[in-house]
Amino acid sequence: MNKYNVLKKYFGYDSFRPGQETMIDAILQGRDALGIMPTGAGKSICYQVPALLLPGITLVISPLISLMMDQVKALNQAGIHAAFINSSLTESQINKALLYASQGRYKIIYVAPERLETESFRFFASKAQISMVTVDEAHCISQWGQDFRPSYLKIVRFIESLPRHPIVSAFTATATREVKEDIICVLGLREPQVLVTGFNRENLYFEVRHVRNKEEPLLQYVSSRPGDSGIIYCATRKNVEAVCTFLEDMGVDATRYHAGLSADERRRNQEDFIYDVKPVMVATNAFGMGIDKSNVRYVIHYNMPQSLENYYQEAGRAGRDGEPSECLIFYSPQDVVMDQFLIENGKDSQEMDPRIREMVLERDRERLKKMTYYCITNDCLRDYILRYFGEYGNTCCGNCSNCQTRFETVDITDIAKTIIECVQTSRQRYGINVILDTVHGANTAKIRDYRMNQNPCYAHLAKVKTHKLRNIMNYLLLENYLATTNDEYATLRLTETSMKVLADDISVTMKMPKDPDPATEGQSSDNTSAKATAKSGKTAKFRRKTFESSNGTDAKSHSLAELDNQGRALFEQLRSLRMEIAKEEKVPPYIVFSDKTLVQMCFVRPQNKEQMMGVSGVGEFKFDKYGERFLQCIRGLV
Ligand code: ADP
Ligand code: ZN
Repeated sequence: MNKYNVLKKYFGYDSFRPGQETMIDAILQGRDALGIMPTGAGKSICYQVPALLLPGITLVISPLISLMMDQVKALNQAGIHAAFINSSLTESQINKALLYASQGRYKIIYVAPERLETESFRFFASKAQISMVTVDEAHCISQWGQDFRPSYLKIVRFIESLPRHPIVSAFTATATREVKEDIICVLGLREPQVLVTGFNRENLYFEVRHVRNKEEPLLQYVSSRPGDSGIIYCATRKNVEAVCTFLEDMGVDATRYHAGLSADERRRNQEDFIYDVKPVMVATNAFGMGIDKSNVRYVIHYNMPQSLENYYQEAGRAGRDGEPSECLIFYSPQDVVMDQFLIENGKDSQEMDPRIREMVLERDRERLKKMTYYCITNDCLRDYILRYFGEYGNTCCGNCSNCQTRFETVDITDIAKTIIECVQTSRQRYGINVILDTVHGANTAKIRDYRMNQNPCYAHLAKVKTHKLRNIMNYLLLENYLATTNDEYATLRLTETSMKVLADDISVTMKMPKDPDPATEGQSSDNTSAKATAKSGKTAKFRRKTFESSNGTDAKSHSLAELDNQGRALFEQLRSLRMEIAKEEKVPPYIVFSDKTLVQMCFVRPQNKEQMMGVSGVGEFKFDKYGERFLQCIRGLV
């Protein structure tokens, strides 16, 4: 057996994804390895394939019970002998597992870090042949990271106590330099093969919708994707309750998750979601860690999150299987106010030393600002995200809402100048709302109190619509024509660029969404034909094409959106068969076959074993177990 046979036989895949081979080869040569790859890149294969080729056992250290169980179920379904040892088992179950393990029954064993210190486990480890120790979610070892786990520090002592030094491999999706250095240093990796792959997720479509009343658009979105699995993140428990109840009342199979529910209910709801019993999950950010569900087709943020770090992590739970999936934010300016409140009143920060607290708050305000800019920029959203994380993207990805909207470039110098003048003449004492109300000429008590009705710019922009003024203000902040202070009462400040505008040294232009005007369609010079296509109702097709052309990884793959009606009907049949088998096997449906594999079946329509085995994701063991039932379904016999 070599690595290619293992990949095909157990996992049913024909080729490795970028990076996987580098990691596997290094490990098979006996080198330590560190893989930093985004969610869905396929980190598990990087250690599972070598684990099957190395002579002894591979121990995988994993922080969460649910993750371990999921992985072990998936391995067992693929015909690989694997087990987990953690606190969900009774003492006698653990002893039995260790006995089997010492008899060499398992190639891969998942353990929680706490387990490494126990007497019985140490005894087992001292006698067993352990070829590799793999540290999953390795960022948990770093005190810089968000998810630091002190018990991860025990891993090093454990490795040192082993009679033979194993290969050590570590994997994470967290990419900051501090975390990377911490992992290498704390784990004591010896001249490791380090691989950092790009953070772009090509199969994800990004969109920001500016919506005032969110319920209707949400319902419309969810109902237009019946049966599809999706997560809706809300900022507060109260919102989760309201949104979930609303969807349920409207007949959507939704469930909820937040820290206010009992542990029992949380577990039940999570299972309903993972097993596709309730395809829609409405949750706070307490939900998601340790969820490996690969067929999440969309993630909607009903409220804007507090930082892009949080956003990309949560949105990234969509489309782990590589199928096209969507990440939307339903933005309203109210969200920013709520996030500000949550940051200023955060429980954690209340207990901090005041100086540290101020630093943390400042950092959080800065993050919130960058998050807000994401929601108001007219530039490529993917590019914005990648830049934020220090990568260079493409200025136009073609697969986000901004790349698919037609914009025109408008000269806004006069408006910008008036706004900046207003900030200057009021001696930089006020925030966004007061300034906008002033130039718009609002006659409110506040404006009169502040005597802003006597400001020289008062009502100069009375003719410009307020939402347009707000957009322009956002743009001025985004492009540093103005700045805000980073404290609780963010006041507007002049920048060097403001001075240039005031001195008439530069003009200000801004991209604005163009009103669809059929008469000029096709004549505009400021845009690509791609955007024109999007507007003329071919969005879905365009999206798919872009995705395919840039996705050179999984060869000859098709996507769900390409299926015609007949294909879609077959997909639904295969999906119900998968559900039936999942219930029999007591595993989540996506562990039986991924959405991607089902979609390939609909395209290939395999008629016999050989053709079925050619479908990506169908390994030998799975074919023997239920390949025939899927064949029958495709042949239309059922
Ligand atoms: P990560 O842990 O990096 O988030 P996973 O290991 O869960 O990612 O893999 C994500 C998905 O990609 C899984 O459904 C997995 O089966 C699939 N996958 C991994 N490697 C390949 C490959 N070489 N070809 C096709 N699919 C793959
Ligand atoms: Zn884009």
